[in-house]
Amino acid sequence: MLDILEQDIMFLQGVGPRRKEILSKELGISTWRDLLEYYPYKYVDRSKVYNICDLRGDMPFVQVMGRILSFEEFPMQARKVRIVAHVSDGTGVCDIVWFNGSKYIYNNYKVGERYVIFGKPAPYGGRYQFSHPDMDKADDVQLSEMGMQPHYVTTDKMKKTGLMSNAIAKLQATLATKLPSPMPETLPPDMTARLHLAPRDEALRLIHHPKTLTDVQRATLRLKFEELFYVQLNILRYANDNRRKYRGYVFQKVGSLFNDFYSLHLPFELTDAQKRVMREIRADMKTGRQMNRLLQGDVGSGKTLVALMTMLIALDNGFQACMMAPTEILAEQHFATIREFLGSMDVRVELLTGTVKGKRRKEVLESLAAGDVDILVGTHAIIEDPVMFSHLGVAIVDEQHRFGVAQRAKLWSKSDNPPHILVMTATPIPRTLAMTIYGDLDVSVIDQLPPGRKPIQTIHKFDSQTTSLYEGIRKQIAQGRQVYIVFPLIKESEKSDLKNLEDGYETLCQAFPDCRLSKVHGKMKPAEKEAEMQNFVSGTTQILVATTVIEVGVNVPNASVMVILDAQRFGLSQLHQLRGRVGRGAKQSYCILVTPYTITTETRKRIDIMCSTNDGFQIAEADLKLRGPGDLEGTQQSGMAFDLKIADIARDGQIVQMARDEAQRVIDTDPHYEKPECAIFWNRLREIRQTNVNWGAIS
Ligand code: ADP
Ligand code: MG
Repeated sequence: MLDILEQDIMFLQGVGPRRKEILSKELGISTWRDLLEYYPYKYVDRSKVYNICDLRGDMPFVQVMGRILSFEEFPMQARKVRIVAHVSDGTGVCDIVWFNGSKYIYNNYKVGERYVIFGKPAPYGGRYQFSHPDMDKADDVQLSEMGMQPHYVTTDKMKKTGLMSNAIAKLQATLATKLPSPMPETLPPDMTARLHLAPRDEALRLIHHPKTLTDVQRATLRLKFEELFYVQLNILRYANDNRRKYRGYVFQKVGSLFNDFYSLHLPFELTDAQKRVMREIRADMKTGRQMNRLLQGDVGSGKTLVALMTMLIALDNGFQACMMAPTEILAEQHFATIREFLGSMDVRVELLTGTVKGKRRKEVLESLAAGDVDILVGTHAIIEDPVMFSHLGVAIVDEQHRFGVAQRAKLWSKSDNPPHILVMTATPIPRTLAMTIYGDLDVSVIDQLPPGRKPIQTIHKFDSQTTSLYEGIRKQIAQGRQVYIVFPLIKESEKSDLKNLEDGYETLCQAFPDCRLSKVHGKMKPAEKEAEMQNFVSGTTQILVATTVIEVGVNVPNASVMVILDAQRFGLSQLHQLRGRVGRGAKQSYCILVTPYTITTETRKRIDIMCSTNDGFQIAEADLKLRGPGDLEGTQQSGMAFDLKIADIARDGQIVQMARDEAQRVIDTDPHYEKPECAIFWNRLREIRQTNVNWGAIS
């Protein structure tokens, strides 16, 4: 049967070739199904209009109705202007602000006209301000008929051609009359009944045309659950398939390498968290199941050591091990650290990165294939095709960003049987996100820092306060400490950023005539970079001026100050990673976040969080919430490994958990995918995989 929902969007009344093109380009909507699954991002009870004099800062999205009195322009950075419109309704005056103002605004909004303005009021400069609100001419709006109004994300391009949110709502209304009735169900009735979920047909209709808030909630819950449930089922089925397909190597013994290292070479006592994680890893590797484990631990929590000990267990059982890092600098540092830890022990460790070339590379590859190399440390170069191990037993992936299933699968092809895999992440991931991105992995957490560390003090300074900033730096250097000073370097503005760094470096050289400075950025030749780094590591230089190349890995326990310039340009997790470069010794360390005097509310929040906590998990949660969708029109969950159409992993933690539990229950009930009562799930999963869903890293 041809699915009616697969019909081209052009065959819907109200969509011509032009709209078809815009819908598909801007929103990826090309079929009826795409439109149906293009859900509103918010609803508003728009029957109520507030007086401007009654606005308050804690109000949600509300509407006011008033006349534009005048426009005003304020120049901003990078030749942009901020346009402000002053609006009055007779009870008071409020402002509307467009941050990247363009002609479009003057073309659409006129002085003297009356508008219904819908947005979130925020106090600014003694009155309330709406930034980028929805605006309609007051004459076009029938307030009494507005009721619960769905709002759809539209882009600037769409607005220019008149394809606004309400035009999408109209298309949805047309589509609703064409849908089969009822829409096919995708969850069995006993499940929807047990979880009190609306039937799919009802949910799909209510989501676009609710009458009450309860309608919205009922429809949303059902659709979010369904979406997250199938994501989880997909992940768990994948893990279940692998478990059935592959056996893991059994590492029975803890042998002389591990024991020697533990009793003779380990320079300090493991923390309790490290011990617990080691027990979890050892238990995994004994069972005959292939280990797929995620090791989470804040920066400086001592993951490298855990990795090394895990690799030693593999060696003790006659296998090779490898460790992969996201950058060359970090790979080199791991290589050096591991060699140092092992000291005189009889373990052959080799390095493989893009810069290991020619004869040397050939040598490494050959001894690796011959089984003479015990531990290979490197970058992603390790998963390239020509790299063959003789008997790879465990692979460690030290990656702060995503390392998907595809990459892991590539590692498996390095030997007949997949090696045990330990993925380490320094960016703590909130549980519900981990459950989704790394959903097929077991999770271990190092939730404790090595003893003797003092919490880093984080301080916010304006860029006008250089005198006191320099004074603080001088004091620390006088006490023998070292200092990082980080400049932002963003791809889009690379040239001017590099110039900033060069200029800044000159200024700093003059400001600290008695000090020696190193300078490192990603555009330098590796040898040059290495030499500058080495000077800082050895203590020859006291100040390291750098871009974020130092974000990962660098370990200089004597460094006690991290200055981050233009901190407003960094994301929360990046700030936290950078801060993690200090506080590694026993001395009190400081992180100074420098910003201009005026910053956005969002930046203010980031800075406040940084100043109030050192806990990476709290920061990760806050980060996810701040960057989550819904607070900015047009922002959807971008950068995720898969497209979620309605659920939001940041906010729907409880539903993620519920979906996970239900998916697990299904896998437990029907691990061989053969029970008739579960057929509905497996059919639906197949259907989803075939249609539009981009579950990239997972399926
Ligand atoms: P990360 O988890 O960020 O990779 P590292 O493995 O680089 O952390 O460890 C940070 C520092 O702490 C290193 O200098 C390491 O030698 C040290 N370290 C690790 N474990 C312990 C411990 N149990 N006691 C004291 N120092 C430790
Ligand atoms: Mg590390």
